Amino acid sequence: MGLDDIKRRVAAAETASGRAAGEVTLIAVSKVQPLDRVEAVLNAGHRVFGENYVQEAAGKWPDWRTRFPKVELHMIGPLQTNKLNPALELFDAIHTLDRPSLAGKLARQVQMRGCCPQLFVQVNTGAEPQKAGILPDDADAFVAQCRAQDLTLSGLMCIPPEDQDPVPHFRALRDIALRNGLTGLSMGMSADFEAAIAEGATHIRVGSAIFGARDYG
Ligand SMILES: *Cc1c(COP(=O)(O)O)cnc(C)c1O
Repeated sequence: MGLDDIKRRVAAAETASGRAAGEVTLIAVSKVQPLDRVEAVLNAGHRVFGENYVQEAAGKWPDWRTRFPKVELHMIGPLQTNKLNPALELFDAIHTLDRPSLAGKLARQVQMRGCCPQLFVQVNTGAEPQKAGILPDDADAFVAQCRAQDLTLSGLMCIPPEDQDPVPHFRALRDIALRNGLTGLSMGMSADFEAAIAEGATHIRVGSAIFGARDYG
């Protein structure tokens, strides 16, 4: 448990899979965590964090950003279109571009603002009805549709079904990325980030293994 341990395991997984050291971005997922736990990780020098809720992130990060330079914030939760503007004020990356209506609104905002966060298309690799994301069969067309609207995509993201071996899902995501010329792969969480690194993850999203269990009380 803890940041140092996870950083060591990430480095070992990079080496084991022939990846360059430091190639994988470790996103520390701080949603719902007590503030002192997040501050401890900031004080340890980590700067890349993930949040799931715009409102929660807006309440915490402006203050930390004034105190800790060069924080990079990644949105990894479902994004409602009515929260798009505050999300664009806060986040450097959005991992949950998961539907055409969001792509359309994003494209308009990006034009108006003249800047764009890193964007990852969320793919529902398990085709789970309750889960957000573009279905694998629709992914190529969605990527093309985003590009036709001048959205620059960084890569793809997935959350494999909880009760399955994640590796086939990581491979499916990598295949979709490869054939669409996308280099970013946001995949792997506390329980499976080493397997994700072996399959080519460029961004892993690790919460409880760094901060401890979340208490939704
Ligand atoms: C909460 C969350 C994580 C982190 O999960 P852990 O199991 O705590 O590592 C990663 N990705 C997404 C999309 C999440 O919502």
